[in-house]
Amino acid sequence: MHMQIRPLALLLVGALSLGTLSAQKKTTKKEAVGEAKEAPAFQLMALPYATDALAPVISKRTVELHYGKHLVGYANKLNKLVRDQGIKERDLVRLVQTSSGTVFDNAGQLLNHTIYFAQFKPYAAGMTSEPTGALREVIERSYKSFADFQAAFEKAGNEIFGSGWVWLATDKDGRLSISKNTNAGSPVTSGLIPILGIDIWEHAYYLDYENRHLHEVWKIIDWDIVGRRYMERAEGVKL
Ligand code: MN
Repeated sequence: MHMQIRPLALLLVGALSLGTLSAQKKTTKKEAVGEAKEAPAFQLMALPYATDALAPVISKRTVELHYGKHLVGYANKLNKLVRDQGIKERDLVRLVQTSSGTVFDNAGQLLNHTIYFAQFKPYAAGMTSEPTGALREVIERSYKSFADFQAAFEKAGNEIFGSGWVWLATDKDGRLSISKNTNAGSPVTSGLIPILGIDIWEHAYYLDYENRHLHEVWKIIDWDIVGRRYMERAEGVKL
């Protein structure tokens, strides 16, 4: 279930069905190899749900624009910069940790949005979504209750002036923190592992909520994914 940024060739080979005629298979394989040579350095994640699956919390139109225009734009710009500047780093987290300027801006946004879009589950009326297990315990130990954590998280997000991100992050020892970044910033540059992140750029919510989205977004958080990120923190950020 982990979102991974995989080379296009792997995706294409993986998509081949066993029943494919051998002649077709040969052609597809050849095409896949040809594509791999020119494959972009960083692959765009596939959206793990339909564009209307998060509505009414996040509308189809917002997902279409946010994923289809903004995120695609960040990935394309990053790949062009990496190609033009001959950058060899292919680990997105390390690239964010070691770059600056426009490379950092686009790498940070690609990383942040990959974490963001992977953490939602389709909306269903009456659905509640709360953390469980070890993550729930540490949230309650750190913030008294899940409700108190939510209030602190919303407060932190609402304090961001301009564009940015609000995160629930962990260190390798499992200590949680709510952290804020402006623009394309990410907790990975402070050595932390982001496990939940909400986009505070207006393009993420303005069409739907103007400025109440932080209160609504809890309805679609997939806490199984956030909890797994917490349990697997020793491995760093897994995309
Ligand atoms: Mn965004």
